[in-house]
Amino acid sequence: MLKNDTIAAISTGMTNSGIGIVRISGEEAIQIADRIYKGKQSLLSADSHTIHYGHIVNGEEVVDQVLVMLMKGPKTYTGEDTVEINCHGGTFVVQKVLETVVMHGARPAEPGEFTKRAFLNGKMDLSQAEAVIDVIHSESEYALKSSISQLKGSVKHKIQEIREVILYHTAFIETALDDPEHISVDGYGDQLQIIIEELLLKLKGLIDSSDQGRILKEGIQTVIVGKPNAGKSSLLNVLSGKERAIVTNIEGTTRDILEEKILLHGLCLNVIDTAGIRQTDDLIEQIGVEKARQYANEADLIVYVVDSSRPLDTNDFDILDMIIDRKSVILLNKTDLEVVITKEILQKEILKRTTKEIPMIEISAKKEKGIDDFDRLLHEMFLSGSISFNNEVYITNIRQKDALNQAYESLKKVLVSIEIGMPEDFYSIDLMDAYESLGSITGETIGEDLVNEIFSKFCMGK
Ligand code: GDP
Repeated sequence: MLKNDTIAAISTGMTNSGIGIVRISGEEAIQIADRIYKGKQSLLSADSHTIHYGHIVNGEEVVDQVLVMLMKGPKTYTGEDTVEINCHGGTFVVQKVLETVVMHGARPAEPGEFTKRAFLNGKMDLSQAEAVIDVIHSESEYALKSSISQLKGSVKHKIQEIREVILYHTAFIETALDDPEHISVDGYGDQLQIIIEELLLKLKGLIDSSDQGRILKEGIQTVIVGKPNAGKSSLLNVLSGKERAIVTNIEGTTRDILEEKILLHGLCLNVIDTAGIRQTDDLIEQIGVEKARQYANEADLIVYVVDSSRPLDTNDFDILDMIIDRKSVILLNKTDLEVVITKEILQKEILKRTTKEIPMIEISAKKEKGIDDFDRLLHEMFLSGSISFNNEVYITNIRQKDALNQAYESLKKVLVSIEIGMPEDFYSIDLMDAYESLGSITGETIGEDLVNEIFSKFCMGK
């Protein structure tokens, strides 16, 4: 990549809207903007971080009336000279402004190229750059909070802290081995063992946070199960607040798998409503049932809807067998009708199968009763009631989690070397491996190919 060539892209969404922004970054950003800008003052003589009213012109032709923001590096997003042209937000006019910019010397930017430059120019580390995409893609309150925390450097700082300790000890071993007359490594293994154990705990904490991190970022994979007519589709409709699933009382009509994202006070449920789980001869229905089982196996949460107005049958018993060892919630539905199945009756059935407690809530999908209790329960189950982004770091990125796992394995090898009394230089090999793996999270020890791959997933103009 020509590091300083000047790039440009539309940074706002491509739909007609109030304002559109064309961003230019690079050594010639200000010169290029000045060539097509007509206003009171030349942009070349303007101060940094100022806004200028005027017109974008292509020769004689006036393209649009604009506000131009001028920001000189290094105090910019990319670290380079940057100009942002705020024009009218019609897709045609924004495109036209971009074309004019390109015609006068800028190159159209690749997806994610502005952020890539920010990373290469040391404005942010790789974990922060990845947080930028997550902020843009956030679909819930928690997803946004956790991405912002990572953007502010929470992951970076945690990783740096651990890497510094590793580096210090590697350096100590190397120095000691080079200069055995002055630096002794006697008893050093015992000392290192304690430190490695502490580091392993920290890494484990981060790795474990990734389950919750994934739930924060992507939502809870949820499967609703229950025999036909228990009220699964009705529940989904209540939760999503709109008539999305087809609700009918002909048994077995929910054949297709419907997926719906539902926001419950900052928590996102990705609900898959499946065909009623039961024995069936209908082929299409069979496929649905098979899929339901498959989804249920992979889900974070199974919501079992029981029709409390009808006695339990073999369908219910099959479902109970399936959910006992999974994270699940039982919703006793249709409590507005005469109740045949109570919590106590169900509890007896559960106790025949497991001693584990499965939370139960009485609801009525029809009367929209009990839904708040369900909401509260989910927050308790998945976020331990409340969640704080001040001190805790949540790993939400698979690449980062893999790197943490690698570092964890390497440090465990150091422990083994200490235990079986290997010479000290063995420690430093594995310590350096851990150091490298962690460096890939912040981007310090990562090849150009991987950098390119990560940024290619960005959207245009970011
Ligand atoms: P599914 O087959 O499990 O998806 O069940 P549906 O959501 O299609 O509901 C089956 C029937 O039960 C429909 O006629 C619903 O209107 C009715 N139903 C669902 N929930 C309730 C409820 O809480 N109370 C009553 N009285 N009827 C309900």
